[in-house]
Amino acid sequence: MYDFLMAPKDIEIRDKTRKFVKEKVSAELLKKMDQDEVQYPREYVVNLANEGLLGLRFDPKWGGKGLGWTAEVAALEEIGPLGMSLGCLYSLPSICGEALSVFGNDDQKARYLKPTLEGKKFTAEALTEPRGGSDFFGATTKAVKDGDDWLLTGQKRFVVGAEGADYFILYARTGDASTPARDAITLFIVDKDKGVETKYLYKLLGTRGGGAGRLVLNNVRVPKENVIGKVGDGGKIFYQMMIPERMTSAAGIIGGAKVALDVAAEYSTKRKQFGKHIMEYQGVSFKIADSIMLLDAARALVYMAARAIDTRQPSSFCRRLVSEAKRFATEKSWDIVNMAMQVCGGIGYTQIYPIEKILRDARLSMIWTGTSEVMNLIIQHEFFRELGERKARKDERDVELDANELADDEKVFE
Ligand SMILES: Cc1cc2nc3c(=O)[nH]c(=O)nc-3n(C[C@H](O)[C@H](O)[C@H](O)COP(=O)(O)OP(=O)(O)OC[C@H]3O[C@@H](n4cnc5c(N)ncnc54)[C@H](O)[C@@H]3O)c2cc1C
Repeated sequence: MYDFLMAPKDIEIRDKTRKFVKEKVSAELLKKMDQDEVQYPREYVVNLANEGLLGLRFDPKWGGKGLGWTAEVAALEEIGPLGMSLGCLYSLPSICGEALSVFGNDDQKARYLKPTLEGKKFTAEALTEPRGGSDFFGATTKAVKDGDDWLLTGQKRFVVGAEGADYFILYARTGDASTPARDAITLFIVDKDKGVETKYLYKLLGTRGGGAGRLVLNNVRVPKENVIGKVGDGGKIFYQMMIPERMTSAAGIIGGAKVALDVAAEYSTKRKQFGKHIMEYQGVSFKIADSIMLLDAARALVYMAARAIDTRQPSSFCRRLVSEAKRFATEKSWDIVNMAMQVCGGIGYTQIYPIEKILRDARLSMIWTGTSEVMNLIIQHEFFRELGERKARKDERDVELDANELADDEKVFE
């Protein structure tokens, strides 16, 4: 139905992913993950790699498919019904791969990107620290030079894949008090077996089974060959990584909301109250109508952001669209899943239907990969910058001159 948003190759990938999701992931695995009986479903990632579904946007030389964001968001919407943990494990090669692909050298691509896309090495992103996640530039994990190596000390938390990853894409502070904040952080590839301690600590509301854990680093030795980009480039790379980080959240959650809506809509055609199917009550069917509209609006924004990135629009404009897509898709998906539960009444609150699980997952989508509040900071910041530029160009109609009463002396601002 939405094929017109995609190129033929995107449709191929979408269909392949749909088939994979239908046939290659057992309900048993999903149940075990939700019961916290699985801490890292490695085989799922291997199977994705074997099907050629990882790293869609990356250079085929390193195992990618050379496609664009529209292919990836189409695939992500299909992965969404598997839940956010499997969505995240699908996305990590894209998120961590972005840093390696855009800023890494050929040696790093050969040692880490290629085996990751082949399902031979497993990656995770370590950004958040116990002291804070929103304030990226406040990171306190320290990297100190020791000969040709770096020694890293500190803690990271909420790292999905902490339990199963072979290596972490990890930010640490290399600058001192005199270094400008934007140059103070460096991105490292840290092999887990070089002394990274992992702790699986959290009883999560949802999004279980991905191994979200704590990393403890105590003088972990990292060779200089594992610095991505240059020392101090962390800030620049962070901005680039936030594109896949937020696009994957936005596109994946649409798939979750879609199936919750499907389940509720079908239920409303079967369930009878007061002698009628509940879909015949506007109180129910209008909730379905609202959900359909919100889902389409979210999808439209996600595809617009995808097209903006693929067609290399200015980075500040892409940043705004990606943030809008992330906030809108996650918040509206939450509303949709919530409405789906309402439509199903009491049974929707039980584990007889999967809506409660989708709801528990969906709550996180507004928190991780940048909270809704952080998205708003970016959206308004980039808009004010654009507004200033547009006003300076003076090539648009000045509508203030169309006001019925022209009285500049009444425009008092201070
Ligand atoms: C299950 C799970 C998995 C995760 N996976 C990963 C992962 O794989 N890798 C990783 O690095 N991180 C991961 N995260 C971390 C996640 O991205 C952070 O939790 C998130 O960015 C928020 O950071 P915080 O929890 O430190 O909250 P804080 O930054 O402390 O924010 C607390 C509140 O303050 C608000 N706030 C903060 N600053 C501002 C501001 N300037 N203006 C307005 N409001 C503000 C926030 O919006 C929020 O509401 C995961 C988290 C969870 C729970």
